[in-house]
Amino acid sequence: MVSQWSASKTALDRAQRSIGGGVTSSVRSSVKPHQIYFASGNGPRIVDIEDNSYIDYVLGWGPLLLGHAHPQVGAAVKAQLDRGTLFGGGNLTEIVAAEKFLAALGWAERLLWSNTGTEAVQIALRLARSHTGRDVVIKLGGGYHGWHDTVFASVVVYGGGGSAIPHSAGQPASSLADLRVGLYNDLDACAALFAAEPGRVAAVLVDPTSSNTGSVVPAPGFLEGLRRLCDEHGALLIFDEVVSGLRLGLAGATGRFGVTPDLATFGKAIGGGLGASAVAGRADIIDLVTRDTVHSGTFNGNPLAMAAVDATMDVLSADGVYPQIENTSRTLVEGIRAAAAKTGHTIAVHGIGATALVAPGLPEITGPDDFITADWHWWDDLLVPEMLARGVYLLPHGRLFLSTEHGPAEVAETVAAFAEVFAMLPPPRV
Ligand code: PMP
Repeated sequence: MVSQWSASKTALDRAQRSIGGGVTSSVRSSVKPHQIYFASGNGPRIVDIEDNSYIDYVLGWGPLLLGHAHPQVGAAVKAQLDRGTLFGGGNLTEIVAAEKFLAALGWAERLLWSNTGTEAVQIALRLARSHTGRDVVIKLGGGYHGWHDTVFASVVVYGGGGSAIPHSAGQPASSLADLRVGLYNDLDACAALFAAEPGRVAAVLVDPTSSNTGSVVPAPGFLEGLRRLCDEHGALLIFDEVVSGLRLGLAGATGRFGVTPDLATFGKAIGGGLGASAVAGRADIIDLVTRDTVHSGTFNGNPLAMAAVDATMDVLSADGVYPQIENTSRTLVEGIRAAAAKTGHTIAVHGIGATALVAPGLPEITGPDDFITADWHWWDDLLVPEMLARGVYLLPHGRLFLSTEHGPAEVAETVAAFAEVFAMLPPPRV
């Protein structure tokens, strides 16, 4: 058991006097018991400012697919640091990194570098609108694609019927005028949105595994059906692979499910812990930036991040990396499932690539509809602090990110902690 988190609480109180809300991303204020302050990380483990060590399944909220302080990424970044961090022109690493990333994807002809997933989605939507000459975009309920005004809607709560529910105060109603909301795994709902506005839909934006609400395998035929609908209506299909990219394999969701989008966005894991993102896809669409479509960013393709992407691609391209991650994920999922079964609690557990999901109170989870009915109060407020006290750092809402550095020892320790906590908590609401 670790000591309690009084130094982190003191740091948070202090932060609230200089940083708005004390946290640097709103969602971090929802973490129980409160945001923890960390001093270092190494491989699968992270250490807080009171020297408590945790097995880390948060992994920077997804990016650290190679764990903390990966030596190869660190060496590449340090070497670049000594040569300068920003040139405001070209650098050869941005080309090498692009070549490696496109080769890994296999289907995409071009990419554009940016810094965050939000930016990559923004330029993807701009390109889609520019290419089609249309404005309307369909996203799916439960999908999170970044915090920009025009798609930050129906992220968790969604009513169906196509209307977009803004997720934040301060979003102008006009910013959502061209957004429609379909349902994940429901082709008829998407077809109805196309039929309602013939010739107006520029693109369907979909997170192939709905990673914000489940990280699930799409229903058979769903992604294929979206591809067909887009083709029939002259719209583009955009995959948001900010989470699934590299976590499902080198070629991401396209490699896993065999459906090719026109554009796809990437972020998080590609930068090995530094800020890097990309939109990749068809040359005829992405090359619009050489004509009338603007893509900007002072830090786009900065040498430091590009060195990290380059090293990340090298590490992940080595033989055996993905089978090993899948194996770790399978052992973890089976272990948590067995621990839940022992207590008789109804808890769905599944894994996909380097991501797992634990959904309290559900026998299984297939998408956003199930996801929102799970007992997240049980997970966030009861289980997460108990696991933290046992040295396991978890995200809210059941998602576990794995890294190449998590191994049998971490899995065994984690499963033992789950077993103990499952046994001491009342059953989740079913
Ligand atoms: N798309 C998806 C699927 C995401 O999960 C996220 C971040 N959680 C984003 C886009 C936005 O990425 P960023 O936070 O880097 O802007």
